[in-house]
Amino acid sequence: MNITKIATKIAPKIVTRAKIKRKYSVAAVTVGCKVNQYDTSTILASFEKFGFCIQNFADFPPADIYIVNTCTVTNIGSKKSRQLIGKIYKKAPNAVIVAYGCYAQVQPQQLAELSGVSLVIGTQDKHKVAEIVTDFISNNKTNKKPDKADKSNEPDKSNEPNEPDKPNKETPNRQNKTIKHAQQPLNAPQSSIKNNRTRAYLKVQDGCDSYCTYCIVPYARGKPTSIPIKAALKEAKTLTKNGYKEIVLTGVQISAYGKDTTETLLELISCIHNIPQLERLRLSSMNPATITDDFLQELAKLPKLCQHFHLSLQSGSNRILAKMNRHYTTEQFAHIAANIQRYFPQSAITTDVIVGFPGETDEDFADTVQFVENIGFFRVHVFAYSPKIGTKAATFANQISNRTKEHRSKILRATSAKLTEQFYTKYIGQTLPVLFETNPAAKIWEGLTSQYLTVRATSTENLNNQIKLVKTTKFSNNMLLGNITE
Ligand code: SF4
Repeated sequence: MNITKIATKIAPKIVTRAKIKRKYSVAAVTVGCKVNQYDTSTILASFEKFGFCIQNFADFPPADIYIVNTCTVTNIGSKKSRQLIGKIYKKAPNAVIVAYGCYAQVQPQQLAELSGVSLVIGTQDKHKVAEIVTDFISNNKTNKKPDKADKSNEPDKSNEPNEPDKPNKETPNRQNKTIKHAQQPLNAPQSSIKNNRTRAYLKVQDGCDSYCTYCIVPYARGKPTSIPIKAALKEAKTLTKNGYKEIVLTGVQISAYGKDTTETLLELISCIHNIPQLERLRLSSMNPATITDDFLQELAKLPKLCQHFHLSLQSGSNRILAKMNRHYTTEQFAHIAANIQRYFPQSAITTDVIVGFPGETDEDFADTVQFVENIGFFRVHVFAYSPKIGTKAATFANQISNRTKEHRSKILRATSAKLTEQFYTKYIGQTLPVLFETNPAAKIWEGLTSQYLTVRATSTENLNNQIKLVKTTKFSNNMLLGNITE
């Protein structure tokens, strides 16, 4: 392997467009969560500013540069990231392949060893990706083909496609692998992605320092950082001006918003809520331990706040919660859920649960199922525990067999399906405001309520991005059917 430079610090350089002598094309692909998707759009936007030409990942001829936004939250995420890099290398053996993201932050060396990878950039350098790549191209451009004697860079010949025609231009030499892995505080700008032009996701936070024993995120994303309210507000105003009716505040852990500043999540929520054109404000996943009575009391004064709370439970057994380092008990969680119902009687609470955590007994699992039923969640996202190298839990004794994990997942998913149906059924016959966003068939419109219930109605009008009142008549196929009343 030919790693010529391992940088632990990055000396920021100003790289102007003029330094890029011609336009290189960049394509990106994302593995993993919504936050990663954001980061990819932010990174592509910065490439555009630097004068690069953005192309779709699937386009042919291949791009000159590929950004693979990797994931390592699960082993599947890591595997997928490696596979994608392999596929790109086969499709575009002369391209500069940049392994970026959580996986790159946590295990840069592992990615640097993959054939075809030119640059490994961790999440701490999110705002410098375009700059680092520009620098790399400027320093490594050459007309030479890769050195086939370098076995580590050699693709698997058995499946190698014919080399595509390259444009007659200088090709950056991808042999010079560089790992950029700085430990610098993030200075996150506002960023957002849009969904069907109805709901926009506004990322206001990154990083986490909760160190749940099963989770790699604190190592991959670093300490919590928050976008200043002023910047978030400016972006939110632009989004509403562009017609978005709903904004979802999101981040790796929005409950940690303000930990690194003097501003609070409540202040941020209130400011964005007060934008006149905004119709709905939704919160993404929250840490239950941070939802105090005072916080809920203040939230209840905000009429545009969606009646939907996603609180990750992870286990209904106190013994397992302690082993997970979750900082709350089931009694505290139940108290918070009851408080939410008190302030928001029409609200839906959704959650995540990990089954098969090391040492989880049949009794612990039975407690979880019972607890989930008692709370009456609208939906439970069930995850089978998968040990992640680098986390404490991966070293715990009494790992659970895959068979048991599958069995428990199946039981909990069935419980979730039952609770979802019960929850929907409560809303039959009610009149609910629905923000319509898709048109799955002629005259059929589908949208979401404030609680995140899916509702379908018939209309000859174009209802895209419109909020209409719908009187619901029945539950079918995991959604409510109804008639528009206005
Ligand atoms: S709160 Fe726990 S599970 Fe969530 S990102 Fe932080 S460490 Fe991971």
